[in-house]
Amino acid sequence: MQIDTTPLEAILREAQDIALVGHFNPDGDALGSVTAAYHYLKARGKRPRIILPSLYPDNMSFLEPEDPQDRMVICEKDLATARTLVAAADAVICLDLNRLARTEYLEEDILAARGKKVLIDHHIPAELDRFDVALSTVEVSSTCELLFRILMDLPDIAGDASRLGLRCAESLYVGMMTDTNNFSNSVFPGTFEMAGRLIAAGVDKQGLQEKVLNCYSVSRTRLMGHMVKDKMKVLLKYQTAYMLLSNKEKDRYHFQTGDSEGFVNLPLAIASVQVSAFFTENADGTYVRVSLRSKGNIDVNRFAMRFFNGGGHRNAAGGRLYMALDDVPAYFEQALAAWPDEEKFS
Ligand code: 5GP
Ligand code: MN
Repeated sequence: MQIDTTPLEAILREAQDIALVGHFNPDGDALGSVTAAYHYLKARGKRPRIILPSLYPDNMSFLEPEDPQDRMVICEKDLATARTLVAAADAVICLDLNRLARTEYLEEDILAARGKKVLIDHHIPAELDRFDVALSTVEVSSTCELLFRILMDLPDIAGDASRLGLRCAESLYVGMMTDTNNFSNSVFPGTFEMAGRLIAAGVDKQGLQEKVLNCYSVSRTRLMGHMVKDKMKVLLKYQTAYMLLSNKEKDRYHFQTGDSEGFVNLPLAIASVQVSAFFTENADGTYVRVSLRSKGNIDVNRFAMRFFNGGGHRNAAGGRLYMALDDVPAYFEQALAAWPDEEKFS
């Protein structure tokens, strides 16, 4: 995979105010990529600002900018500032999202912005023609891996990972580590190469693992036990397992943002389960968030697009259902029955 970074470098050279935008419900890769870009651009003397549509899990707050003037702007708390920053930017860089609608609030603002628009992402299908420069490929583990390769190619870094600075390197590592579920999914030879080069540049692999992956409360681990023991339904006919998590249960287990991260992967440890789904009510009960995982060549990306108003990757996708949680099991089983074979495998 060859990435031409010349057009991006031309934009970065001219731009001073740069808006870095991630997707709604930011995960480690979204947060890792916007903060890595921030740390790189800040060190380069630019004025980058991070805009996220909604809050991200607390355990990754150590990646945030230190400078209080550069605090992250969360659209759900301060949409007016987010809009002002997008409108004023010389460049708007969208990371870890393939469609502007994934920003939830900023699609029209970004389209109308005067600055150059850049996409750096690893999802398909991507809205390539809405950007001046679109760097998009699925041949990487994560947006952070793609960003690592892009940064390595820029003239000031010139292939030397130690020039990224430790904060940037840590952000890149965290995004890759979380998006691969700690090196178990979507790992390419280049993923290990990146990890090796970041560790050689000073990244503390063990320390980041402790901070980001082993950071949960007692009640979160008990909730996980409850889900697996009492809530997991296995549909052997479809080689599928699923779990539902209601807001009542969240309250009972003192749920914090990010606590259900990884639950969807648990049923995949069962040999006969090829597809796993996890459904959870959003905080105000207006919709149900959907997470899907699969093994091998089973394509949950197209499954998410067809039945769950979402998308993602072949083996990890997500979306939303606008219905009561109680109605989800019947809908899900209908969807499994209606899933066309020609879309199931890729
Ligand atoms: P997760 O299940 O971890 O929330 O998401 C898995 C993958 O699906 C991620 O790569 C994410 O980008 C994608 N994804 C999650 N939710 C949505 C959604 O609502 N829409 C789209 N298009 N993709 C999603
Ligand atoms: Mn990602």
